[in-house]
Amino acid sequence: MEMRLPLTIVEVRYEELVAKARAIAAAGGHGHLHTTVPGCRITGDARLAIVLEATDEGAVYGFFDDQPIEDRAKPLAILLHGADSVPADGDTLQPACAAVDRMADRMRMGKGHFHILNPACLVNSHPGRWTILFEDVELGALESVSDARPLADIRLVERLIYA
Ligand SMILES: [Zn+2]
Ligand SMILES: [Zn+2]
Repeated sequence: MEMRLPLTIVEVRYEELVAKARAIAAAGGHGHLHTTVPGCRITGDARLAIVLEATDEGAVYGFFDDQPIEDRAKPLAILLHGADSVPADGDTLQPACAAVDRMADRMRMGKGHFHILNPACLVNSHPGRWTILFEDVELGALESVSDARPLADIRLVERLIYA
């Protein structure tokens, strides 16, 4: 599958996005979220966004705003990815891989932002595998690709995203 970015996104109100996420969760369907920052290659948009890939539907929905969206993304992440996708601050983290550790350092320096790309994700240029993507403002796209779900890496990234 060829990666085509930005994704074609149907813009919706927040309430509509919540309804979509609830419907997917209630049906036991496949769907996942991305939170994006201005200039992110997923949206190519100057606003912040919560992007919902409705995998079964083959559609992508987005709620766009200029205000911080993490607090509004959290309940949707819990619906679609499970409660443990938003780790408590006190949870102990297992060590992430060296590549992702380096990306995390870059993020703490304000040099970019993360995405977790699952095997079905339209943004993932390695379909069928897991990719941790870091969009570095100086170094370009950095990736860490693995066959199995890289739980320790995901935990670290989620903590940084929702911090
Ligand atoms: Zn991005
Ligand atoms: Zn995705």
